Amino acid sequence: MSKVILPMESKKSINVWFVCGLSLCNFDCAYCASGVPNLQGKRTNDREWETEDGAFIFDKVLSWLSKQSYSIGLRLQTIGEPLVSRKFLEGVAYISHSENIRFVELVSNGSLIRKRLPFLKNKCGVDLTKLSMWLTHHHTEITPKEFVDQALYAKDQGVKVIVNSLLFPDNEDSVLKLNQLCKKYEIDINIDLGHNYNDAYPGTDYFAVSQDDRSLLLGELNSNLDVKRAAIVASLKPKGFLCSAGHDYVFISSKGDVFPCRSYYAGDPNNVLGSALDEHFRLNLRQSEYSPCRVRDICSCKEDYLHMQIARTNQTDTKSLGVGYFGAVSDSERSKMESVLLQANETKLIKVLETT
Ligand code: SF4
Ligand code: SF4
Repeated sequence: MSKVILPMESKKSINVWFVCGLSLCNFDCAYCASGVPNLQGKRTNDREWETEDGAFIFDKVLSWLSKQSYSIGLRLQTIGEPLVSRKFLEGVAYISHSENIRFVELVSNGSLIRKRLPFLKNKCGVDLTKLSMWLTHHHTEITPKEFVDQALYAKDQGVKVIVNSLLFPDNEDSVLKLNQLCKKYEIDINIDLGHNYNDAYPGTDYFAVSQDDRSLLLGELNSNLDVKRAAIVASLKPKGFLCSAGHDYVFISSKGDVFPCRSYYAGDPNNVLGSALDEHFRLNLRQSEYSPCRVRDICSCKEDYLHMQIARTNQTDTKSLGVGYFGAVSDSERSKMESVLLQANETKLIKVLETT
């Protein structure tokens, strides 16, 4: 019997966050979430892939994704910087032509766009209408002006571009400058709370500006504060909150293992749904939209916690897993969230969120 191919509109939409094993980066940020190479972090400065089979697994996962019967919004992330690798860009172009892929979002430091986007476009033949770039500015490595110049180049090529800025104790000026330049050139900008990874900001909390007057900037820049509240709750006590992970979202590790979310992967490998290396494994997602979170620890990644009901906002759908999703928050979830925020330590950050 011949295989029936459903049109894209009739397939259920899901989000997939795949962090593949490409580990090389041309930058060296102290607060890098992938760790510092000299301190046993996963990021590397001397080889392209974390493990010898990294590129092989990458290809297998992309092939598996192309066979799934969902309409997939894919954030295709790396441990390091995606644009350093030609092999990776060939994979991006391949998956962009799969009919079940709505968009392919790369998470990049933006520094190599002028050098590598022509290769991705002209040599690899990527479908530019599906390409999206989440460009995070790293203030210790590149000036706002150089960075925005690269972002503008991508935007002019027809790529969906969102500039991401991280608020740290030492980068108020660069966040303001970036915001000003993005407004001038009509580039979408998102401002998030910088995490104190690797104790890059000794003496600060998990969110490096928690006790800092600079957190006031979030209110001034009209950043999406509902999502910030969800970020704080997710960093403190997500267990029991309603979440759609496992229904309309999954995470895939660099080994090809598929989980309802990254925090379930980090919390317990037994939460695995299956392996994308197994060609017989098909995603069978939960029917009900929401289920109470069971994680034992925290939910630290934005790709994950944006699927909590308390993070739903009036954002419309876009080609990104970084800005949030449309939906309503129930009264009971809202009151649970307020209770967690009240129990939390008094910080300037929470006061900003209460009064804004
Ligand atoms: S650009 Fe990203 S991956 Fe590279 S060092 Fe900085 S934070 Fe880490
Ligand atoms: S709240 Fe976070 S850890 Fe819990 S199920 Fe949702 S995404 Fe996973």
